[in-house]
Amino acid sequence: MEVVIIGAGSFGASLAWTLARGGDQVTLVDQFEPGDPRASSGGETRLMRCCHGADADYTASARRARTLWRELEAESGEALYEECGVAWFAPRTDGWEAASERVLAELGAPTERVDPTELYPSVATDDLAFTLLEPEAGVLRAQRAVRALAAQAKAHGARIMGAAARPDGAAAVLDDGTRLEGDAVVWACGSWLGDLFPSLVSLRVTRQEVLLFACEAAWGGTPGWVEYDRAMYGTGNIDGLGFKASLDLEGPAIGADEDLPAGGSTEPEVRAYLSRRFPALARAPLNYARSCRYELTPDTRFIASSHPDHERMWLLGGGSGHGFKHGPALAEVVAEAMRSGEPLPERFGLGERSASRSLRTAGSGPGR
Ligand SMILES: Cc1cc2nc3c(=O)[nH]c(=O)nc-3n(C[C@H](O)[C@H](O)[C@H](O)COP(=O)(O)OP(=O)(O)OC[C@H]3O[C@@H](n4cnc5c(N)ncnc54)[C@H](O)[C@@H]3O)c2cc1C
Repeated sequence: MEVVIIGAGSFGASLAWTLARGGDQVTLVDQFEPGDPRASSGGETRLMRCCHGADADYTASARRARTLWRELEAESGEALYEECGVAWFAPRTDGWEAASERVLAELGAPTERVDPTELYPSVATDDLAFTLLEPEAGVLRAQRAVRALAAQAKAHGARIMGAAARPDGAAAVLDDGTRLEGDAVVWACGSWLGDLFPSLVSLRVTRQEVLLFACEAAWGGTPGWVEYDRAMYGTGNIDGLGFKASLDLEGPAIGADEDLPAGGSTEPEVRAYLSRRFPALARAPLNYARSCRYELTPDTRFIASSHPDHERMWLLGGGSGHGFKHGPALAEVVAEAMRSGEPLPERFGLGERSASRSLRTAGSGPGR
């Protein structure tokens, strides 16, 4: 197949890598360099976790993605994935963590109930029912991983182009007028997808913050962590960046092309959480804060569908604050549908969706 992909984030670059290593002829186009901070896939790190509550499909997808990220590491010779584990702080015996534990057991993926005081230099546990460790989860080096996807796609013969594109019928037209057509033209445009296809795609673009705090050496190598019911997540000290602690509730709306302001507005909420859960870090100096974009579907399920009017045009996106890790596994599903002509699972479709954010690490309570 000859495939044109617009967008070299986790979704588009994963598809480029998957198709190119399978022998397809790929052209990958992006207005920025892969891993640019204006794209959702920019920034240093992303959690790679299989726990998705009761959702077996997303759990299996993340597990498959872990294998594929490992394959990318082997191909590229780069350290992209830190398998430091992820700890889930469970305030209830019958909540999201218990549901995740059941689904992972059914899939044969390891989990363990642990004493978190053995994992972290400072952690308060008096209000927790249990802590679930996912030992094969961890942290992906996001920007580096996206660049590796694009580089490996190129190594398998893909053509990489820097340009802004717009749809014209089933083709993509670049800003210099070049017209690209193929057996498939895929629009994997992150936060920009809703602006490009307003009548088909309903995405809410929000501004989110990432905060990193100075910490002692003992926080290096500690597992990533999530407290689903409080919509908080973070990592230990990866690559000397500091301890990451961020709020996963939806931030204010922002346009895809708007400048991202410096982060820091969520610091009081994050500090209040740190003083409760990781007391030694309550007054830790802020190393830095930055903001970035979520592109949220109403139900946090991804979008992967052919266009209703142009069967050779495909839309891919709606990462919804948790898509990064799934990139290569989602790409496999999309590549298979392109080759076989079989429809993609209905959950990725363009139709109406009911509101839910259960697949993110944002709890199930009201947003902002
Ligand atoms: C703060 C934050 C924390 C997150 N944490 C996690 C996490 O822990 N785990 C996880 O798995 N996921 C996480 N996510 C979500 C994840 O990063 C995103 O779901 C994922 O990166 C989306 O990838 P994408 O390829 O769809 O979009 P993007 O990365 O935005 O890529 C889209 C690309 O399309 C290009 N493009 C758009 N329009 C055009 C055009 N017209 N012409 C040319 N190029 C165009 C853009 O330049 C961009 O490079 C997080 C996201 C954020 C912002």
